Amino acid sequence: MRLCGWIIRIKRIGRVVIAEVSGSDVKPYVIVGKEDINPGLYKMLSELSIGTAVCFEGEPSPSQISKRGVEYIVKELKVYSTPLEPMPVDPAGKVPALLDTRIKYRWLLLRNPVEKAIFRIRQSVIEAARRYLLSNGFLEIHTPKIVAAGAEGGATLFKVQYFEKEAYLSQSPQLYKQMLVASIPRVFEITPYFRAEKFNTTRHLNESWGIDVEQGFIEGVEDVMRTLENLVAYIINYVRENNSEELEQLGVELPRVETPFKRLRFEEAVDILKSNGVEVSETEDLSDQAERELGRIMAEKGHYLYFIVGFPWSSTAFYYMREEDGFHTRKFDLDFKGLEIASGGQREHRLDKLVEAMKQKGLNPESFDFYLEAFKYGMPPHGGFGLGLERLIMQMLGLSNIREAIIFVRDRTRIVP
Ligand code: ATP
Ligand code: MG
Repeated sequence: MRLCGWIIRIKRIGRVVIAEVSGSDVKPYVIVGKEDINPGLYKMLSELSIGTAVCFEGEPSPSQISKRGVEYIVKELKVYSTPLEPMPVDPAGKVPALLDTRIKYRWLLLRNPVEKAIFRIRQSVIEAARRYLLSNGFLEIHTPKIVAAGAEGGATLFKVQYFEKEAYLSQSPQLYKQMLVASIPRVFEITPYFRAEKFNTTRHLNESWGIDVEQGFIEGVEDVMRTLENLVAYIINYVRENNSEELEQLGVELPRVETPFKRLRFEEAVDILKSNGVEVSETEDLSDQAERELGRIMAEKGHYLYFIVGFPWSSTAFYYMREEDGFHTRKFDLDFKGLEIASGGQREHRLDKLVEAMKQKGLNPESFDFYLEAFKYGMPPHGGFGLGLERLIMQMLGLSNIREAIIFVRDRTRIVP
């Protein structure tokens, strides 16, 4: 068996060299070389340094004493490349690095089993989402990332010079996925979002990823919430079942998730917060602090994942369907331990009402002609959501900063690496 990777730890005990090689598995390969087996090989092994790229041939050792990874008795070793300088971070994780250094050298720190575990889980989340959605009849789509109009408000749009025109980086696939339910009943996209959020928070990135879903021919907003809760439960339970080694590396215990999730009316959330002494507005979206406090209160009642439903029209984007009372909408948020991980709802599919809503929100319908056109030819009632990938991973793994959930960070101050 030929295995490859990088040396992350090495030690000698008497006449035995034990080296840990970080390769394709979450745990390192532990290679063991004894002096009496092959003197040339033993010399090579004892001269290895941290960071060296190697391949080796070996057999799993019958003894398996190490708890750190599978032990191999090495028969052949090839050195491909040695570090030119001492490493700026410790791949074994014995010397912890500050977040700033971790972010700068994430690509290198991925040799560390703990860092690697996060991104193996990220890959599982994507895999699980795709599996769930494909098996429920959703078609995977790709929509433009250079766009002429934003859906989520002008404040967070990044401008792009597009030949003679001004364009923007896409904040979300909202408009395009809605257009596509005019011809494909169920669609999804796994996509980056670009948002010029000006404030450095632990929950915002300027380039983040979302799992976006849009579903046509719905009876109401409950259909969309069921898709979202079943998707999230499937993802978390999939990680729980398929990533036990990674979860162990991270010291995370992931309880099985059951559906349905608790549904809390927006007013109920406001009342709960007020009776706990938190000041909240009855017409605006909840502040981050109010969200966190609500998370604490809900956790005491055993709810870690819960919906907030029926947001007031004054707090939402133009495309959500308004209730007859004119005050409420069919918009919901899904919160996970006090952090919004998804927003969604039923959309306004009636063209006249949609145009009216745009005007009321101060938008010029002419800038959205391409989008409005899709509502002319048999647009079914529909709804969907955007689920933040890094937010989901962050809450699932108990990470304290969203930057830990993405390899190359784009935030207010980082545009390299
Ligand atoms: P928030 O109010 O927390 O800033 P939002 O309501 O503006 O988020 P949405 O437009 O609802 O965000 O986007 C859908 C989902 O995408 C969010 O629920 C969140 O999980 C994720 N998301 C949105 N913006 C960001 C961002 N800047 N960084 C990371 N994730 C984001
Ligand atoms: Mg939202």
